[in-house]
Amino acid sequence: MREKERISSIKGIGEKTEQLFFRLGVRTVGDLIRYYPRGFEIYEDPVSIGEIREGKTCTVSGTVFGRIQVSSSPRTQVTTLYLKDLTGTLKVIWFRMPFLRNTLNRGGVLILRGRIVRRKDGLVMEHPEIYYPASKYQEKLHTMQPVYHLTAGLTNNAVTKAVRQALECARENQDILPESLSGRYGFMPYKDALRNMHFPENKEVFAKARERFVFEEFLVFILSLRRMKESENRAENHFVFSDQPEIDRFLSSLPYCLTGAQMKVWEEIRKDMQSSHIMSRLVQGDVGSGKTVVAFLALLLAGLNGYQGALMAPTEVLARQHYENISGMLETYQLPLKAELLTGSMTAAKKRAAYERIQSGEVSIVIGTHALIQEKAEYKDLALVVTDEQHRFGVRQREALAGKGRTPHILVMSATPIPRTLGIILYGDLDISIIDEMPKNRLPIKNCVVDTGYRENAYSFMRKQVAQGRQCYVICPMVEESESLEAENVTDYSAMLSEELGSGIRVGCLHGKMKQQEKDEIMEAFAGNEIQVLVSTTVVEVGIDVPNATVILIENAERFGLAQLHQLRGRVGRGAHQSYCIFMSASKSDETKERLDILNHSNDGFYIAEEDLRLRGPGDLFGIRQSGILDFKLADIFQDAKFLQAASEEAKIILDQDPELAGPEYAGLKDYIDRKIGEIMLETTL
Ligand code: ADP
Ligand code: MG
Repeated sequence: MREKERISSIKGIGEKTEQLFFRLGVRTVGDLIRYYPRGFEIYEDPVSIGEIREGKTCTVSGTVFGRIQVSSSPRTQVTTLYLKDLTGTLKVIWFRMPFLRNTLNRGGVLILRGRIVRRKDGLVMEHPEIYYPASKYQEKLHTMQPVYHLTAGLTNNAVTKAVRQALECARENQDILPESLSGRYGFMPYKDALRNMHFPENKEVFAKARERFVFEEFLVFILSLRRMKESENRAENHFVFSDQPEIDRFLSSLPYCLTGAQMKVWEEIRKDMQSSHIMSRLVQGDVGSGKTVVAFLALLLAGLNGYQGALMAPTEVLARQHYENISGMLETYQLPLKAELLTGSMTAAKKRAAYERIQSGEVSIVIGTHALIQEKAEYKDLALVVTDEQHRFGVRQREALAGKGRTPHILVMSATPIPRTLGIILYGDLDISIIDEMPKNRLPIKNCVVDTGYRENAYSFMRKQVAQGRQCYVICPMVEESESLEAENVTDYSAMLSEELGSGIRVGCLHGKMKQQEKDEIMEAFAGNEIQVLVSTTVVEVGIDVPNATVILIENAERFGLAQLHQLRGRVGRGAHQSYCIFMSASKSDETKERLDILNHSNDGFYIAEEDLRLRGPGDLFGIRQSGILDFKLADIFQDAKFLQAASEEAKIILDQDPELAGPEYAGLKDYIDRKIGEIMLETTL
């Protein structure tokens, strides 16, 4: 039996079971070997009944006390017994297993292992495993039993058995890591490591085995990205972008000069678009550094050359803002192009009309939310896709768009400063431009961290700013998971604030639960200074640009991550007026103090991101983990950051020495990576 063989070559796996394994994505013996457990059951010594705790899985040993009863309700039959030891009596129940009444009624000592839950009548052990006679538990005591993700029809036992057999065929020579490399890092030998991934003796051994595969996973990922970048991103550029005098005219009539950094990045983009290959570029720039105008230039270049460009935003509010902004510029500077807005809240008829204009080529710049731009629209000739405030634009999405015509150029814009190590992973397939300079007219934001006792002062400060013609944001966090409570929170708060600030000041409120049209109306009113104070949840977090707003008061600041607070703060300081950020927090913890202190003393997003990583270590930075971008089987980019760094360095060394991975020591690795790339490509065409 070899790793490449189908799993039906394993004893006991017939056609039916094989189908079940297919559902788990396990096709070959090799797949099965690498079907790692999602966790382990650790079989501890039994505890006395007096020691059990709610919510824990524990093992108890005792004798059956009284009669075993089976209640017969129409839907479930509940078997109940009482187990007794020297310290107390525990109620135990099973569902739909009435036969237990007969098998367990024989007396003697019984060992049960199950979860303790609280029910109406106190702590109850639910649906435990049964060890009878009690000596059976001895065999499992202190072992770590793997627990696998399952599918209906396949038991944990069946998977465990199959894995045990599959492991028999693991061969040292199937190790894909070059020996010299494993040696240098002191990794556990391949076969031992594999076995210990499934059946470790203890946690330490498992951790050691895991290291090896985490490293391997990172290395394979990075090498695959690099190689894809070589082939895929090198797609030929079939578009011709000639320089357009209209663009120079536009630049010279703007009320401001582009910063040096904006000019540099625009040059990089223009060069990319005019090169022989299509562009894949990420523009990173701190909040307020002026990314939009740079993207607009690229869209102009596409439009003026007779092609189309699309700009995707993560929210409707932001899409609309971009649309207003861009169509405003087209009009003001008399540029002969039309823009179109595509959002989910448009009526079907409006959408249809928009799709028609896009298909006919009547509009050159299409602005909208991701779904609509990517999935529904047919373009006449799409040459450029810009995504704003998105962490990553994957190969899959690019392919999806390319499927509708020629492969378009891709520009990704992000205000999220990413520590270097994470950048490697997130943007491994992109070229990076950084706007590292703020427009000249900006004054650094003044920050303060205060407790709730300062609230009155904050309000009177806001009153003064409004009297000078400025505007303010107040941010409230989600109080509960529930969206309705969240809504209530900002609604109540804005009513209270409106009273507090007096009749001359209009207070608006904005939250995720509102209808799109309502949100748009509020944002428009705020942009036009019809509303002076906007009380909002974090829906304003990304991208919103109202340069006249100069104060942002963030309530419960301790509840937000550093990166998010920095984003929120970026809503002010976008114009020529001095701006202020007030972090309000009732929390007295040292950790909160340290975190807010970082923001208090720095406005530099990159520095803040590094500090965030340092402080939080493993955690969900930037919400990246939730977005499902980084689907590693084992590795965790935060916990395993040091291996990520190491793997990225090794990848560089390997590719520098042997870009084709032609050497014999890389044979296994190359084979694996080619298959991996194949898989990714396949996924993208589905
Ligand atoms: P972000 O990089 O956060 O997306 P925006 O593109 O929204 O920032 O720009 C923020 C504000 O700065 C906008 O009002 C924009 O008009 C203005 N702006 C952009 N570039 C410059 C510049 N070079 N000088 C002055 N203001 C600028
Ligand atoms: Mg922006």
